[in-house]
Amino acid sequence: MARTTHISSQLPRRFHGPYSSHWYNAVRLCLPALLILATSCDHNVLVQSVTTPRDICINNVRQMEAAKEDWARRTGATGGTEVTSNSITSFFTNGFPKCPEGGRYEIGRVGEPATCSDPKHQVPHE
Ligand SMILES: [Zn+2]
Repeated sequence: MARTTHISSQLPRRFHGPYSSHWYNAVRLCLPALLILATSCDHNVLVQSVTTPRDICINNVRQMEAAKEDWARRTGATGGTEVTSNSITSFFTNGFPKCPEGGRYEIGRVGEPATCSDPKHQVPHE
């Protein structure tokens, strides 16, 4: 008994080292993953909660492009056909979208991107 006590009182000192460094390593290995998770969560929260006029405008432009493509498919219009706002207004349940910062929309032709006249509102086309 006394011997066991003696050993176990010695062992923790020896075993604590590798044991705690094992945990240290585990935490250290997981930390980047945790950080990535944390930052991507923060990012999502930011993207969802902060909607800038630019975001709204770019969303409008994307909807216009989708409506334009839809309209072209339905009417059989080929690439290069000019599209007017009257042609695609019916695709928007709340009426034709307006730029939140007063930009003017250029719907453009079939197969071309729609644009806002505000240089800050250009849709990133990848
Ligand atoms: Zn705009």
